[in-house]
Amino acid sequence: MKKVVIIGGGIAGLAAAYTLAEKQKQGQAEIDYLLIEREERLGGKVLTEQVDGFVIEGGPDCFLSQKPWAAQLASKVGIRDDLLGTNEENQGTYVLSGGRLHKLPEGLMLMVPTKIIPFAMSSLISWPGKIRMAFDLFLPKKKGDGDESLADFVTRRLGREALEKIAEPLIGGIHAGDAHTMSLKASFPRFLEMERNYGSLIRAMLAARKKAPPRKPDAKDGPRYTYFMSFRRGMGELPGTVAACLDSAKVLLGRRVTAVKRAGKGFLVEGEGMEPLKADALIVATMANHAAEILHLVDPVLREKLQEIPHVSSATVSLAFRTCDINRPLEGFGFVIPRIEGRKIMAVTYSSRKWKYRVPDDSVILMRIFVGGAANQDLVALDDAEMLKMVRAELEDILGIRAEPIMARIYRWFQGMPQYTLGHLERLEIIEKRLQEIPGLYLAGGSYWGVGVPDCIRSGTEAAEKAIAHLLK
Ligand SMILES: Cc1cc2nc3c(=O)[nH]c(=O)nc-3n(C[C@H](O)[C@H](O)[C@H](O)COP(=O)(O)OP(=O)(O)OC[C@H]3O[C@@H](n4cnc5c(N)ncnc54)[C@H](O)[C@@H]3O)c2cc1C
Repeated sequence: MKKVVIIGGGIAGLAAAYTLAEKQKQGQAEIDYLLIEREERLGGKVLTEQVDGFVIEGGPDCFLSQKPWAAQLASKVGIRDDLLGTNEENQGTYVLSGGRLHKLPEGLMLMVPTKIIPFAMSSLISWPGKIRMAFDLFLPKKKGDGDESLADFVTRRLGREALEKIAEPLIGGIHAGDAHTMSLKASFPRFLEMERNYGSLIRAMLAARKKAPPRKPDAKDGPRYTYFMSFRRGMGELPGTVAACLDSAKVLLGRRVTAVKRAGKGFLVEGEGMEPLKADALIVATMANHAAEILHLVDPVLREKLQEIPHVSSATVSLAFRTCDINRPLEGFGFVIPRIEGRKIMAVTYSSRKWKYRVPDDSVILMRIFVGGAANQDLVALDDAEMLKMVRAELEDILGIRAEPIMARIYRWFQGMPQYTLGHLERLEIIEKRLQEIPGLYLAGGSYWGVGVPDCIRSGTEAAEKAIAHLLK
């Protein structure tokens, strides 16, 4: 029997293993799989903890519903009914600017205004800034198709204020990255298409709004779909349920793969605490920085290109407070903080306002604070006491919260956020070419074709399908 070894049990590796397990159940018994994970738990960055009635997210707290792969996987493993939309009644995102929280104007799609009156009334952008954003309607398209940073693109089309107060904290924040080095082509190709096809982001968004089919009412017996989705018991429900569908004898936990060697038509996988293992095909579903280490003996160019994909560190701090200790009303789902504000934290999500089922009862609220990212990576290394002190000082300054939290949890993700910097697509092209020279080797995960959970699931599924096709040749 042929064997596919999957290295890395994050959501990408789990999606790959699940695809292979399903194929086996459907009668493709001649291909077996083995999933190897360094930690004692599966799920990677998708990590949910249940503590005293709180549902706490250490990594992602949602996925984009427009990308179908996460909801599809949820349906396949039987947890479609647990899909959870955001709380409609508390909607709204705020931006800290000049020390005050300003609501993002209604009709702002990604970073593009599509409704004149709410945009005109918004206190976030100054009048000169608003007029500059409207220039987008008349400015010529960029010539040529060279890559451009997110910062250059937004400044060119919408002006500096839109970059600093909207695009950089909101869009750049998704990657915890630096808008000045982030490749537009790799991270947000949709903006490029909008400029190419409509000559203006505002015109493109207005056209997209007109063309959009009226929102289908949610099926009576199904979940209510919102832009962002999660699960009743948190994002961890997805990897947890996928893992339960796998044969536990085909999952090795607590084993770090140290190297892979080519052996005949296949590979030899070496790791700590395990005998070398033969693999007929190999899916490396770790971040690129780890894949570079694992594959260092396989191909030096591949290793070098994988190493060139930078990763930054970030942390999330979840704090619970008694509702009666919060003196100012909290509005919306939370707020983002532009770099120019010079704060130490990047964003705050009011988890229990954004989602149902996150707190034991209404007498408490749960919030999540983002630390680190490209601008403040050093802060991720603060010890727990220093981290809490720093975060509480920021919350006191911004929200006036002085109370002692009744619960605190800190999650650090060192070098855990891949950055799609300028040249990312060219790097991927070279990586793909090298992979073609090494039949049976596939990469999956957030470092390559999309950082979000749905993209990671898609990449894992596709890697497994390619491995199967290769072995059946
Ligand atoms: C704080 C934070 C918030 C986020 N928020 C969101 C969000 O709201 N929505 C969203 O869609 N995305 C979000 N993301 C991104 C998303 O969580 C990740 O991109 C995604 O979970 C990555 O999955 P993965 O399987 O590719 O990698 P990982 O989850 O990193 O899994 C890789 C696995 O490989 C293992 N591994 C590494 N080296 C080895 C080795 N040598 N041997 C064996 N195993 C190894 C690791 O232990 C890990 O379990 C967030 C990320 C972070 C850090």
